Amino acid sequence: FSTSASHDLVVIGGGPGGYVAAIRAAQLGLKVACVEKRGSLGGTCLNVGCIPSKALLHASHLYHEAQHDFSKYGVKVSGVELDLSTMMKQKGTAVTGLTRGIEMLFKKNKVDYYKGSGRIESATSVAVAPTVENGSASNASEVVLNTKNILIATGSIPTELPFLKFDEKTVVSSTGALSLDKVPKKLAVVGGGVIGLELGSVWARLGAEVTVIEAAARCAPFLDEEIGDQFVKIMKKQGLNIATNTKVLGADRTAAGIKLKLDSKDLGDSLEADVVLVSVGRKPFTGGLGLEKAGVELDRQGRVVVDSHFRTKVPSIWAIGDVIAGPMLAHKAEEDGIAAAENMAGKAGHVNYDTVPNVIYTFPEVAWVGKSEQQLKAEGVKYRVGKFPFVANSRARTNDQPDGLVKVVVDAETDKLLGMHIIGSLAGEQIAEGVLALEYGAASEDIARTCHAHPTLSEAIKEACMNSAANGLSAI
Ligand code: FAD
Repeated sequence: FSTSASHDLVVIGGGPGGYVAAIRAAQLGLKVACVEKRGSLGGTCLNVGCIPSKALLHASHLYHEAQHDFSKYGVKVSGVELDLSTMMKQKGTAVTGLTRGIEMLFKKNKVDYYKGSGRIESATSVAVAPTVENGSASNASEVVLNTKNILIATGSIPTELPFLKFDEKTVVSSTGALSLDKVPKKLAVVGGGVIGLELGSVWARLGAEVTVIEAAARCAPFLDEEIGDQFVKIMKKQGLNIATNTKVLGADRTAAGIKLKLDSKDLGDSLEADVVLVSVGRKPFTGGLGLEKAGVELDRQGRVVVDSHFRTKVPSIWAIGDVIAGPMLAHKAEEDGIAAAENMAGKAGHVNYDTVPNVIYTFPEVAWVGKSEQQLKAEGVKYRVGKFPFVANSRARTNDQPDGLVKVVVDAETDKLLGMHIIGSLAGEQIAEGVLALEYGAASEDIARTCHAHPTLSEAIKEACMNSAANGLSAI
């Protein structure tokens, strides 16, 4: 960091928003630098989010299947044991393989990678305070990068509760919950959203007694209600203790762990656990960026305010991903990043937020895109519903994975697909068909008349669309 450099774009943050934007901008001919402080690229997603959580979900599912399900397929195993440190090592290998892959992509696309903490000095300059591998400050002196554009892609961090401060051992955020060194006997999960249910599932499969505490009347209230009800039923059947309408009022540390004070009909007034995962949401991260001085506006939730081109009030400063409004999802951040880079390069970058898919990677998975029934009701839209249960799908039966269904909601007059909701073993893969159909403005009959291979889980989508049709296509 001894010399200053001149760039067309300096990206602050190397997560899925930032690194994808950096590469796209470089491909479009811009001279790009990316500043990342954590010591490795990939942001929350690759280091402490999507990737390690999916590695543990996969591994814990295999362990659970070997213990409980193999025998029903005539596969006899005995002495199945958990080797948690090897499981964690495999997770680490997946993470480092991917984060190093991004470094290679940066080299290939000639993106300058600065390991350091970025601070906006002016509308056209970023100061970089170098950091070392683990993200802590190094002794090297700061460098200032002069640039035509700055992209804020600093992402988000977990929200803490005032009486449950993270120590990442007894009171953990998702980051700590991805690296526990032993299986807790009792794990309390505060917050029944996507992260709480995914990580609660991991530790329940590995043997923890898991209680999910949710203040609202429903877990994952963003789900289509019918899908949400089925999903919670399945999670309970798998052994997750789920208490809704339950508030955590305080917490006392004990010798064994922690005692939560509760306001709850189901759980009484306290719950003891050796580990508490607090998964009550995430907040945009803008600390130390110098946004006020730069004149960049934040909204009430602390998100950077941008226009539809991802530009802030300061014309040379842009923002994308978790740090702006919209769903906090890696693929949304990537789409933002590509569109912002294209706009900077004088092209017409655009993101269709109506077709952003969502997935909960439990088993079975839950995936959805577009509108739920309750949203359509609230909007006064006349709609029809089509459904098909996996218990009637031949591939789901061959795999003995009959839980779940495909549900579609379609415009009652035009038959246009408005939403697709799936619970099923591979719902996260299957939802891509719904996303494509929505993006292309398909009618449910278009899908119903499209040939799907047999026997596949995707036939359930065709069947749900046949079931929604007012034209007698459906067999059930
Ligand atoms: P981030 O990924 O948060 O990256 C921002 C980066 O900026 C960070 O690396 C940070 O170190 C860096 N940074 C911040 N400030 C500075 C600074 N001043 N200087 C330099 N660098 C800085 N999403 C999905 O789509 N699918 C999933 O399955 C999924 N699973 C998840 C599981 C968990 C446990 C968690 C926590 C999240 C999950 N997410 C998932 C959400 C996903 O990780 C985020 O939506 C995504 O990472 C946001 O990307 P981003 O680029 O906006 O920000």
